[in-house]
Amino acid sequence: METLSVRCNHCGAPLQVAENTRFVTCQFCQSSLEVKRTDNSIFTEEVAKIAANTGKMAESLEVITVQNEIERLDREWGIEQAESMVQGRNGPRPPGNPTFGLAFAIFFAVVCFGMASFSSSFGAPGIFQLVPIGMGLFVLVAGVMGVANGQTRETAHSHYQQRRAELTRELEALKQK
Ligand SMILES: [Zn+2]
Repeated sequence: METLSVRCNHCGAPLQVAENTRFVTCQFCQSSLEVKRTDNSIFTEEVAKIAANTGKMAESLEVITVQNEIERLDREWGIEQAESMVQGRNGPRPPGNPTFGLAFAIFFAVVCFGMASFSSSFGAPGIFQLVPIGMGLFVLVAGVMGVANGQTRETAHSHYQQRRAELTRELEALKQK
């Protein structure tokens, strides 16, 4: 069988390998070598090195995956924020702080109910009591819904922040490896 001369990729020692050998251990430095062939050359590569490179690649792939996850999370949260801002502007929710909105709604409702009882004490027709009561109730419901919306948004926000913190920790751990 024909033998080929190669050099150890680690220590440079000349090695003789059989034509069809794929893996060889260097007699001088005990490196595990893979014999590689191209059309016109033959060389060796340390097996341990290949494994280390593969490990590194898998690791950086993991880093990229986590980074992508964080980016996706940020993007989705950004879209959600933009959407809820648009809804807040056009929807029935009172602008600004929802709790303040509720306080204003209660105040407005009290004024409405006051008007209703005031007009009934003068013996005004029923419509003058029904309209303010209806308005007061509507404003109260809108105020309560505003607070509920705000809480839903806060829950979503804390969930987002929690998930993001988890991913950031994961990323840090991967980078420290
Ligand atoms: Zn060697």
